[in-house]
Amino acid sequence: MKIVRFRMDARDRWGILEDKLVHEITWKGIPPGDYSRNDNTFPLETLQLLPPCLPTKIICVGLNYRCHAEEVNMEIPKVPIIFLKPSTAVIGPGEQIVHPPQSRRVDYEAELGLVIGKKAKNVVVAKARDFIWGYTCANDVTARDLQPKNGQWTYSKSFDTFAPLGPWIETEIEDPHNLKVSGILNGREVQRGWTGDFIFSIEELVAFISACMTLLPGDVIMTGTPAGIGPIRKGDTFTVKIDGIGELSNGIK
Ligand code: MG
Repeated sequence: MKIVRFRMDARDRWGILEDKLVHEITWKGIPPGDYSRNDNTFPLETLQLLPPCLPTKIICVGLNYRCHAEEVNMEIPKVPIIFLKPSTAVIGPGEQIVHPPQSRRVDYEAELGLVIGKKAKNVVVAKARDFIWGYTCANDVTARDLQPKNGQWTYSKSFDTFAPLGPWIETEIEDPHNLKVSGILNGREVQRGWTGDFIFSIEELVAFISACMTLLPGDVIMTGTPAGIGPIRKGDTFTVKIDGIGELSNGIK
């Protein structure tokens, strides 16, 4: 099932995408959970989609692909390296990434985003899948020149618009460790990874992070980027494409 959010008549709404048609739904409680469909149906191409969830926090994993760790000459980490992006950095499909004046180099990072579906604390690896709502495309936009080699990365990764998410939450991914993750810059593929190359599995990430902080429905874990990172410039368009999920495109201004 593909879950979308969209805005119409000055109201944010939820829907389910089926065959290029969005059927509006109303949740009975905090999503996800029970919902009802109303009679509203809209062709997908007529809608401006919003980010598919409203995270209270975005937890990002650095260096989770073996090939990217080699690319940046870093040792394979023994425990996940995590950092946070603020909820205010989130934008949806088609929205513009804003190049901040403080930076001379802003990079794309195509990533698989994991969306939490249930409050999660101290989750064990064997139960981790039960807490996942679904998956989306994510871009861990980074002001590379502001990212210190050693030290924390918050400033370089937290600018407004630096967390594109979308286009929807795909809830029916059978094997999240068999997905192709591509980054496409102005129509040319510049990143290609396979989630089977993960250093830490989806389940290990949920367990590790939830041992520290409570994860809430809608929170997003960005699972790291494969090799091929590089800059985006004003006027570029960057697309994160994940087979089985879809494509997330954002321009930069
Ligand atoms: Mg990243």
